[in-house]
Amino acid sequence: ATPTALLVGTGRGAQLGIIIKGPQVLESTRRVDTVVLDKTGTVTTGTMTLVEVVAADGESEDDVLRLAGALEDASEHPIAKAVADGARSRVGALRAVEDFRNVEGLGVQGVVDGHGVLAGRPRLLAEWSVALPPSLVVAMERAEAAGRTAVAVAWDGAARGVLVVADAVKPTSTAAIARLRGLGLTPILLTGDNEATARSVAREVGIDEVVAEVLPADKVDVVKRLQSEGRVVAMVGDGVNDAAALAQADLGLAMGTGTDVAIEASDLTLVRGDLNAAADAIRLARRTLSTIK
Ligand code: ADP
Ligand code: MG
Repeated sequence: ATPTALLVGTGRGAQLGIIIKGPQVLESTRRVDTVVLDKTGTVTTGTMTLVEVVAADGESEDDVLRLAGALEDASEHPIAKAVADGARSRVGALRAVEDFRNVEGLGVQGVVDGHGVLAGRPRLLAEWSVALPPSLVVAMERAEAAGRTAVAVAWDGAARGVLVVADAVKPTSTAAIARLRGLGLTPILLTGDNEATARSVAREVGIDEVVAEVLPADKVDVVKRLQSEGRVVAMVGDGVNDAAALAQADLGLAMGTGTDVAIEASDLTLVRGDLNAAADAIRLARRTLSTIK
């Protein structure tokens, strides 16, 4: 390989808004046949808004907002920001939370106003032996079938409501995924979110393969499994959660709009935070390599 051609490749990458860690990265893109896409913040904007509040029988929507809002205000998660902002705009200033804990990939817990509050996936509530009444199960299923994310809320040992947040697909994602397919790559959507939400987003952007309900620590295992099946894997992600998977992938691409940890773990940074840059990067690398030969 002539170093000059590789340097030309990386220079053109900078023009396209792609930061390449080193010339060796161009080599690893040649054989890539699978692209794993993190859902939240990569395929979708990651900016969620609160769109629905459902209270269990005998509960008030405002109480659900007050307690869940105060709890989520202590979390950095995009879902939490949507809940806290939505709650604040409806019920005003939120109380402080004590003994806050983030339960990775499942939700949050803490004490608000003397109440032990949980917000997150039904599995988090189940760990505390809190069951969802049928009305809340139906509300969650309806929201998830529509591609939204439903947060179950409980306090003092009983489920009290469901908060629904929605995250929009980036306007560029569908076309970019079609381009990745055009380059011969099979796209796979990877997410910690539930199966129904993931399938709905996948359908919207033209992805057939979905790996959902993956805990943050297990994302790396999904990449390893695909590699053990003989696939050569590119991974595109943005979150702290994605760092290990980005490092494991044959080619790790971080959204420039994402976290420093993800950028640090990756081979390529897509400055624009747009999936089209992933297609540009792979095309560029292949062109550069064919120039060398
Ligand atoms: P993703 O892989 O989509 O970026 P995460 O691994 O961060 O998702 O979270 C997985 C799931 O855990 C979320 O879809 C949500 O259902 C739940 N969850 C995580 N954090 C919170 C939170 N702060 N509040 C409510 N639910 C949460
Ligand atoms: Mg993410």
